[in-house]
Amino acid sequence: MKHVIVGNGPAGVVAADTLRKLDPGCAIALVGDEPEPPYSRMALPYLMMGNIGESGTYLRKDPEHYRRQRIDLVTDRVEAVDTRARRLRLASGATLDYDRMLVASGARPLRPPIPGLELPGVHFCWTLADVRALLADAKPGARVLQLGAGFIGCIIMEALVMRGLDLTIVEMGDRMVPRMMTPAAGGMIREWCEAKGVRVLLGERIASIRRDRALVAELASGGRVEADVVIVSAGVRPNVDFLQGSGVDCAAGVLVDESMQSNVPGIYAAGDVAEAYNQATGERGLNAVQPAAVDQARIAAANMSGRHVTTRPELTLNVLDTMGLISSSFGRWWGVPGGRGVELVDRPGWRYLSLQLDGECLVGATSIGLTEHVGALRGLIEGRVPLGPWADRLIAEPLRFPEAYLARAQAAA
Ligand SMILES: Cc1cc2nc3c(=O)[nH]c(=O)nc-3n(C[C@H](O)[C@H](O)[C@H](O)COP(=O)(O)OP(=O)(O)OC[C@H]3O[C@@H](n4cnc5c(N)ncnc54)[C@H](O)[C@@H]3O)c2cc1C
Repeated sequence: MKHVIVGNGPAGVVAADTLRKLDPGCAIALVGDEPEPPYSRMALPYLMMGNIGESGTYLRKDPEHYRRQRIDLVTDRVEAVDTRARRLRLASGATLDYDRMLVASGARPLRPPIPGLELPGVHFCWTLADVRALLADAKPGARVLQLGAGFIGCIIMEALVMRGLDLTIVEMGDRMVPRMMTPAAGGMIREWCEAKGVRVLLGERIASIRRDRALVAELASGGRVEADVVIVSAGVRPNVDFLQGSGVDCAAGVLVDESMQSNVPGIYAAGDVAEAYNQATGERGLNAVQPAAVDQARIAAANMSGRHVTTRPELTLNVLDTMGLISSSFGRWWGVPGGRGVELVDRPGWRYLSLQLDGECLVGATSIGLTEHVGALRGLIEGRVPLGPWADRLIAEPLRFPEAYLARAQAAA
């Protein structure tokens, strides 16, 4: 059995290792188009902070790992797939035949149509090469303008501030992390960032960037910001271009079933590129975080090796560390039609909680600074635990959710 894995990030590497464990006799080719040993993007902020060197980002620390596991590392770019012939065409002109293929090609950063993004000093923060170029430009004291305050934008902020950079953020949404946080929670994160010396401009767009003596960003509202470095963090898009014309169904990413298989038998997808079934929404969707990539890769690899394994209904859970302020959102944190919710804001204590109920079950939550009780929230939501009288009690006193968990979930177990 010949397995080809397109993409050598966390999803690709975990799938390759899992395949080897489950099928000692199979052939595995792991194709990646970056000229680096397979590495984790999640580790890039630690590299920026100087906590680790480049080798600290590598997914397998032993350089002999792939040879010993008989995983053939191919540095090349997959350009097209012929699903009838089961053959991949590579940028070098070579071809690779497969019996089963895993699409683990991840995502790439969005490039908004802003004039000036091609100028020297404008960077993305997505690859090892990006970080090398960024660090060369962003010397301590440099003025940095960051476009975007989403999940990744917030994660990299701490590394930028720790490097002694003077940071301004421009976000077009009305709050920070708008796709993960309620308005009040996003507002609290903003206050936290401002208290740490970061300037935050919300509901604002960069219209263009030009180079004067420094970089000058013209804002849509008419203002302007001068900077030595601009970082673009405006969201991501799955890497599916090479699947064009292959017959593999894609929406934004590759549409897969509960075994991570696409509509084409023998072709699977996992990680940032996959649109998997999401229990929280009842729909298929992207979940661009590393733990999801790795879980999906294990499931895909098990099925590629001939087992039958399906995704367990999984709760969407995002945890974000914004310069030391820990926030989380769970399940349908935005609430459900006909449901009810409660919100508690403790500004002086940097604590926040929003609970969303559907009937007598908790279906979503957003929290800031309540890290010690994340497990209880998760247990109540994932287990769809009937809260009985605790539903009304939580609406009146939301912080009592750990007691509700003990009384309803743990007692039932
Ligand atoms: C700065 C930063 C911080 C992050 N922090 C966190 C965090 O704290 N927590 C978290 O959960 N997630 C975090 N993430 C997101 C996380 O890194 C991704 O969810 C994860 O990398 C997804 O893994 P993947 O294997 O699907 O894709 P990727 O890691 O993107 O790997 C895919 C690989 O495939 C290659 N490829 C693409 N197309 C082709 C092709 N046609 N041919 C050959 N190769 C190809 C790509 O170049 C890439 O090397 C962070 C991301 C960034 C950028």
